[in-house]
Amino acid sequence: MLLGAFLWKNGWIVLGETQSAVRIIAEVAALLLLMDLLMYFFHYGAHLPFIYKMLHRKHHEHVSTNFLSLFVLHPFETIGFGVMMLVLLIGYDFSVISISIYLMLNLIWGTIGHLNREFFPASFDRLLVGTTRFHNQHHLDESKNFGFYTSIWDRVFGTYK
Ligand SMILES: [Zn+2]
Ligand SMILES: [Zn+2]
Repeated sequence: MLLGAFLWKNGWIVLGETQSAVRIIAEVAALLLLMDLLMYFFHYGAHLPFIYKMLHRKHHEHVSTNFLSLFVLHPFETIGFGVMMLVLLIGYDFSVISISIYLMLNLIWGTIGHLNREFFPASFDRLLVGTTRFHNQHHLDESKNFGFYTSIWDRVFGTYK
């Protein structure tokens, strides 16, 4: 957050001011897809043995997940998430509304994704949605399902289960 405020004050991050609903929906969709891609690589990296031991092992102590599992992260993982967001905000002038909606969805998604029972109907898996089942599978088999909001990148890179 502090780094973001610094970049914003110094003109590296410019916030868009669109009020158009279509534009906001497009920006939120872009944030979800791009963050999903960046998080895919970051999460894949977090499973490399030496990084895993330092950062990500704690999260995977929750084999049977619950609504708090999302928050069992190493501080560096949280900072990594923030840095990825800042990279996108430097690259494009997303509006404040789009960023706020995205962050709200992220929190809701992270909580739903770690519930121990399925929240979405089974057909959502086929719609490429990153369902609870999808992320639970990652907690059972740590070599699969590194994405989070969608299963698109796992399907593209061959790690989908
Ligand atoms: Zn993991
Ligand atoms: Zn998890």
